[in-house]
Amino acid sequence: MSLIEELVASGRHRLLIGGEWRDASDGAQITVLDPATAEPITAVPSGSVADGLAAVDAAAQAAPAWADTPPRVRAEILRAAFEALVDRADAFAELIVREMGKALREAKAEVLYAAEFFRWFSGEAVRNLGSIATAPEGDKRIISIHQPVGVSLLVTPWNFPAAMATRKIGPAIAAGCTMILKPASDTPLTALAIGALLEEVGVPPGVVNVVPTSRSGEVVGAMLDDPRVRKLSFTGSTEVGKLLLEKAARHVVNCSMELGGNAPFVVFEDADLDAAVEGAMVAKMRNGGQSCIAANRIYVHAAVADAFADRFAAAMAATRVGVGLDPSTELGPLINLQAAEGIAELVDQTASHGAQVRVGGRRPDRPGFFFEPTVLTDVRPDDPILATEIFGPVAPIVTFETEEEAIDLANGTLWGLAAYVYTGDLARGLRVAEAIEAGMVGINRGLISDPAAPFGGVKESGLGREGAHEGLMEFLETKYIAASW
Ligand code: NAD
Repeated sequence: MSLIEELVASGRHRLLIGGEWRDASDGAQITVLDPATAEPITAVPSGSVADGLAAVDAAAQAAPAWADTPPRVRAEILRAAFEALVDRADAFAELIVREMGKALREAKAEVLYAAEFFRWFSGEAVRNLGSIATAPEGDKRIISIHQPVGVSLLVTPWNFPAAMATRKIGPAIAAGCTMILKPASDTPLTALAIGALLEEVGVPPGVVNVVPTSRSGEVVGAMLDDPRVRKLSFTGSTEVGKLLLEKAARHVVNCSMELGGNAPFVVFEDADLDAAVEGAMVAKMRNGGQSCIAANRIYVHAAVADAFADRFAAAMAATRVGVGLDPSTELGPLINLQAAEGIAELVDQTASHGAQVRVGGRRPDRPGFFFEPTVLTDVRPDDPILATEIFGPVAPIVTFETEEEAIDLANGTLWGLAAYVYTGDLARGLRVAEAIEAGMVGINRGLISDPAAPFGGVKESGLGREGAHEGLMEFLETKYIAASW
C-alpha cells in the first residue's frame, strides 16, 4: 500500500486539529494533481476560517503543558521523528513525487534532508541557554532566559513540501511552541503525512495541527488576526511575504520570513571550469530549478565564457527528462500549468531580445507540465529575465570583464538570498563573498543547504534564519530578569 493509500484508508488525509482528523467545516475540498500527468491523485479537505480558528484553539490549549514539558522529552520525540522519517524515506519520497513531480532521487534526498532537521533540533532542544551577568554598576544581576514565543503559524511552499515543513516544525517543537502548519495547496499530502508521523512518535494532541486550505488569504488572515497567535514563520514568495508582514503588523506578531531569491552564479577566469559546470548543474537544476536558492543569473568572465557555455550546454542537453517515478529521471515536470506556460513565455521574450537559445527552449510534446533544460547565451545584463525569479530549468548566461563589474551585477537586484562564486583564488572568493549582498554564499560549491547552517536572506529575501542554533532562537523570546540578592 502506498503512503497516499494508507493516509486515505485511515482518514489521515484530512485536517489534523487537536489530535483529531476531520473534514472541513463546510465540506470544501482541494483536488491534488499529479504534475507529470495533470490527472487528479486524490482530494483532501480545504480548511475554512472556522477550521483555522479551531486549530488556533487547539494549539493555544496545548501550549502551557507543552512549554512545561522537559526539553529532554521534546528532544527524544524529535529524535524518534528523525528515525521514523528515515525508516519511511522511500514511501515519503514516492508521495512527494506524486504530488510535486520532482525526480525520485531528488525526492529521496529531500526526505533525508527533511529528517535531518528533526535530528538537528533534537540536539538544539536541550541547548536553550540563558546567561547571567553582574550589571556594570554592580547594583543587580542581569539574568536572560529564552522562553517559547507561543502559538506559531507555519506557512510553507510546495517546492520542498517535506523539508520546508520540518525546518519549521523541528525548532518549534524544540523551543516548546505549539503550532498550526498551513502547507501549500499544491502539496498538502506530504504535510499531512508528516502530521501523522509526528502523532505516531508521541507528539501530544494540539501541539502540531495541520490545516491545508485553498483559501490561504482568508484562513491565514483570520489566524493572524487572533491575538493568541504570536509567531508567523513563512516560506514563500516575496510578494505574499510582504502581504503577510502587513497583516502581522496588526498584533505585532513575531515574524520569520524566508522569501524569494535570484541567486547570481559568478565564474571567474581562474576557476576550475569542470567544477564550475558541475556546481552550476547542481545550483541551477536541483529541484528542476524550482528552488529559492537556484542559480538564476550565471555571470561568466568573458575569457572563459564560450568554454563554460559549451560544457554547461552539453551537460544540460544530457539531462534525462521524464516522469519523476522513473528512477532514471533527472528532471521531472514543473509544479503546474501556469508555471510551465510562464517559463515558456519568459524564454520566448528573452530570445526576442536577442538572446541565443543554446539548448532546449520549449515545452516537450507530452502530457504534464514539462519544460526542457534550457541555456540562453548573449543575454543582455539588463534583460528582464535577470530580474525575475525564474523557478524552472532555464539558465541565462551573461559575460563580465572585471571583478567590480561582477559584484555590481550580482548585487543589482532587490533579492539577497544565495550567491555562488567559482575561482581558483580563495582570497578573491572570500573578498567577493563579503561584497555580495546575500545571506548565503557558496565558494566553489553549488550545494549549500545544511540543517546545521543558518539559512536565510537579506534585502527582500527575508528576515531571520532557519536551521543552526539561530533556527531555534526564532521560536524563543528573550526575557530579562533584574535580580538583587
Ligand atoms: P507562495 O508565496 O505563492 O506560497 C507560499 C505559501 O503561502 C503557500 O502555503 C500558499 O498557499 C500561501 N499563500 C499564498 N497566498 C497567500 C495569502 N494571500 N495569504 C496567506 N498565505 C498565502 O510561494 P510558492 O509558489 O508556494 O513557493 C515558491 C516561492 O517560495 C518562491 O518565491 C521561492 O523562492 C520561495 N521559497 C523560499 C525559500 C526560502 O527559504 N527563502 C524556500 C523555498 C521557497
